Amino acid sequence: MVAMPNLDVHMDKECINCHKFGATDCGQCLECLAKEFGKNMTIGFLTIQKAKAELCAMIDEYHHEIDKAYVKADGELVVDLKVKMKGTRMAGEVEMVVSIGFIESRIKHAVKMTINEKQLSIPGVE
Ligand SMILES: [Zn+2]
Repeated sequence: MVAMPNLDVHMDKECINCHKFGATDCGQCLECLAKEFGKNMTIGFLTIQKAKAELCAMIDEYHHEIDKAYVKADGELVVDLKVKMKGTRMAGEVEMVVSIGFIESRIKHAVKMTINEKQLSIPGVE
């Protein structure tokens, strides 16, 4: 997240980026701020369409494996579909990783414990 800049414009101050007069309190002019903001708003129509297409293709591709895992898992299966989006240095560009994962068997036994390394107990010594 980008912090909301203070938008007071100082006509006597140069923009630290393009050196035009009219910098805001954060040092950049409104034009440069708008460009900066644009860089951080790149999840648009194309990215969403691409994510949808890739997820659909993956589900189709793994139909057989999902079915096999489902049978093996005794009737309960979690299919994880993941889309990781990461902005690159180029404005409007998003690096996207789409992945599918499923566990073939349910967890049947879980042990919960808390370990405190500072409380080492020596057998026989209280
Ligand atoms: Zn500027």
